[in-house]
Amino acid sequence: METYKGSCHCKKVLFSFKTSSILEDIYKCNCSLCTKKGIIMKSIPKDQFVLKSSSNFLGKYVWNKKIAKHYFCIKCGVYTHHIRRRDPEQISVNLMCVDDILIPKDTVINTVDGASHD
Ligand SMILES: [Zn+2]
Repeated sequence: METYKGSCHCKKVLFSFKTSSILEDIYKCNCSLCTKKGIIMKSIPKDQFVLKSSSNFLGKYVWNKKIAKHYFCIKCGVYTHHIRRRDPEQISVNLMCVDDILIPKDTVINTVDGASHD
């Protein structure tokens, strides 16, 4: 497994996580929230994710069934990760916040049908 680091734009929210397959099973979601965020995500088991900064700048947004917890930086506003509704034991990370990641053009990006649960 490799360790990856990531952050929001202003670096008040820092995180790291481990995965052996950074570009596998990456996805977009078509729900009303993810559509507006326009990001690509990668899911990992909750215990592979570590918040490296204090939670002072961590904002939380919940909506609809209030199971998913969406985290973002309250200073710069960038969404970093969330606890998944379909499996709260999983965290999805905003891949665009991960350091040194290049997503090749031919990478398969799945679409999760979150819209059916809006
Ligand atoms: Zn920030």
